[in-house]
Amino acid sequence: MPDDMVDAHIHGVTNALAAGWRVLERGGAALDAVEEAVVIMEDDETFDAGRGSFLNRDGKVQLDALIMDGATLRAGGVGCVERLRNPVRAARKILSESPHVYFVAEGAERFAAEHGIALCKNEDLVIPREVERLRAYQAEAAQHGNDLFAPSSDDVTISHDTVGAVALDRAGNIAAATSTGGTLNKAPGRLGDSSLIGCGCYANNESAAVSTTGWGEPIMKLVLAKWTADRIQAGNLPEWSAQEAMNYLKQRLDGHGGIIVLNPEGHIGIAHNTPRMAWAYKTVRKQEAGIEKSAP
Ligand code: ASP
Repeated sequence: MPDDMVDAHIHGVTNALAAGWRVLERGGAALDAVEEAVVIMEDDETFDAGRGSFLNRDGKVQLDALIMDGATLRAGGVGCVERLRNPVRAARKILSESPHVYFVAEGAERFAAEHGIALCKNEDLVIPREVERLRAYQAEAAQHGNDLFAPSSDDVTISHDTVGAVALDRAGNIAAATSTGGTLNKAPGRLGDSSLIGCGCYANNESAAVSTTGWGEPIMKLVLAKWTADRIQAGNLPEWSAQEAMNYLKQRLDGHGGIIVLNPEGHIGIAHNTPRMAWAYKTVRKQEAGIEKSAP
């Protein structure tokens, strides 16, 4: 992220942390905590989620989100939605009120509307900063004679601003949620890792709650969130497993990204192989937020 966006990111993740903590403090469920935390970041234009997201090649916002409950393995996902301010709210409705796990595009929007979630216009999600970002990107791509101008792993100047949260509640249950506008200039209909179970998000009380960000295609191919949870189920700590996941992403597919991990014992892992990633955590003893180094 650019230098002038650092404070906004720290502020955004700290607000999200407070919203999630309010739920946990009154004895609420981890599932509710991650939903509330992610809603705050979807509403914050700083991030690539909800309003203010990166635009796709057609200049539209197209959003993906997943929420997962570690106790029951229930999950709800939406992909390629264009008329939802808070895709994580729709994902949560799917988790709670549908026999299905995943809805896409108009079907997802119809499901949301039928379950009391107001639809918005796509233009309501588009902000001038992103119109300008897309314009500049496409102008540069045209100069390179390549419409798609696919991001490569060594291009860490391409920002990844997906949002995610993991939480552990008093009952000992963990949950995870991830929400994104995907990658800048993506092809319409392109789905990334964020809303796919085990790729950009995963939660299982037998292993860990995980949320990832970064270049989605390599993360999907490695099923990285589940890969990380498996390391924890095998007896490794989240701190080590998070770092290993980033090493694996880099070594195996030359990918870049970031990850947050939490196990049911309350151990956390935060790692990224990008120059920066905004994170914040709180326990009953301690609260920290940061941008460059990983938390302990
Ligand atoms: N992982 C997201 C995607 O590829 C993008 C991001 O994390 O910023 O859709």
